[in-house]
Amino acid sequence: KLNCLIIGASHAGVNCAFALRKEGWTGNITLFDSDPNLPYHRPPLSKSFLTSEFGIEKHQLKPQLAYAKDEINLNLGKRITVIDRQNKVVTAVDGVTYTYDKLVLATGASPLIPNIEGLKSHPNIYPLRTAQDVLNIKSSFENSISKKVIIIGGGYIGLEIAASLISLSAHVTLLEREERLLARVTSPEVSQYFEKTHKEKGVIIHTAKEVTKITKTEGNLKVTCSDQTVFESDMIIFGVGIRVNTDLATEANLEVKSGIVVNGNCETSDKDIYAIGDNTYHYNPHYDRHLRLESVQNAVDQGKVAAKAICEKSDVIYDAIPWFWSDQYNLKLQMVGLIEGYNEVIERIDLEDENKRSAWFFKNEELLSVQAVNDAKAYVYGTKLIKEKAQVNKGILKSTNEPLDIKRL
Ligand code: FAD
Repeated sequence: KLNCLIIGASHAGVNCAFALRKEGWTGNITLFDSDPNLPYHRPPLSKSFLTSEFGIEKHQLKPQLAYAKDEINLNLGKRITVIDRQNKVVTAVDGVTYTYDKLVLATGASPLIPNIEGLKSHPNIYPLRTAQDVLNIKSSFENSISKKVIIIGGGYIGLEIAASLISLSAHVTLLEREERLLARVTSPEVSQYFEKTHKEKGVIIHTAKEVTKITKTEGNLKVTCSDQTVFESDMIIFGVGIRVNTDLATEANLEVKSGIVVNGNCETSDKDIYAIGDNTYHYNPHYDRHLRLESVQNAVDQGKVAAKAICEKSDVIYDAIPWFWSDQYNLKLQMVGLIEGYNEVIERIDLEDENKRSAWFFKNEELLSVQAVNDAKAYVYGTKLIKEKAQVNKGILKSTNEPLDIKRL
């Protein structure tokens, strides 16, 4: 029997494994992950898993039985350390080797560790990427008397953590290095809206604050910024971006740029090795350039594309418009498309409910992206119009007293 090994059992790896069976792969399938838990959904980590009493079992990607039914071997709690391409063998941290005919790298990403003096020297300072990270945060939070938390980083994950902790009655201070929240991914107007919303809920937000040092005094953690301002808390969570897990690929001499370089079939520079998910630098036909994306949708879609390619189905090319969501308080943000290069934003705010809104990003006449809050219609229409590269009637879009009508847009 042929062997397909998949390194990384998260959104990309698990979806690839099940898709392989669906596409007719009759060989062995083995999933490896250094995380010992049965694979779970990552988005709830900063949302409902952080705030609820339930264990991570509630967020499993698939029940244990499903793996047995599809004859997918799970090798959890096992890190792969070396890929030997010549002999088509991988080695695990315990020295055990596994041979492959096809290998899939679904190694995702790890939290970027910011260069802050003292970050690694003190307890109660956490990243948030795994179920264990959340358990550590929860237990530290339960043991903290003042419930004062500092979040470093005002991106989606930092904001979701802030919203979750506020619901647990924490005192949350969020420090962002840039001049505004979500600076990399949205317009100043949308940033402002999120800042206002979080402040109203009780989050203390400081932008243009670069944390440079963490010290510990009398049980408290003291955070010092480059402008010498100081903040105190008994716990710190940082969410300042990710570092792509490309080490295995680099050491195996595969082509790596800002991620593992793959073609439209998710094939790397070695035809028997595929890469999928957060770790890839892949070509996107819609944008006619290579991209690296961090989203469940991208991981799931690429898992399916790689499975088809491995099963030698010819009708595959990864061609998706990126989409993403974020939940904060009672706000459901849905985003489609990428904003790079935009020169105009049209905002639509519901006349009766300012939390129902959408921002439409254009580069001249081309609609690049729609970011909608509690407005599924705007998101769905935006997706359709972007896919079709449709010419949008901006005048109609601007008249916010009229409901959205795709026929008129
Ligand atoms: P990952 O999920 O990073 O999984 C990679 C796996 O590989 C890991 O389990 C790791 O342990 C394993 N691994 C790595 N190297 C090795 C090795 N050498 N040996 C064995 N195992 C290895 N996306 C959205 O679309 N919407 C959201 O709302 C959203 N919210 C998020 C909230 C949080 C807190 C986080 C952290 C992410 C969120 N994301 C969200 C992003 C989304 O979770 C990722 O895009 C997605 O998990 C990527 O899946 P992946 O399988 O490519 O990689």
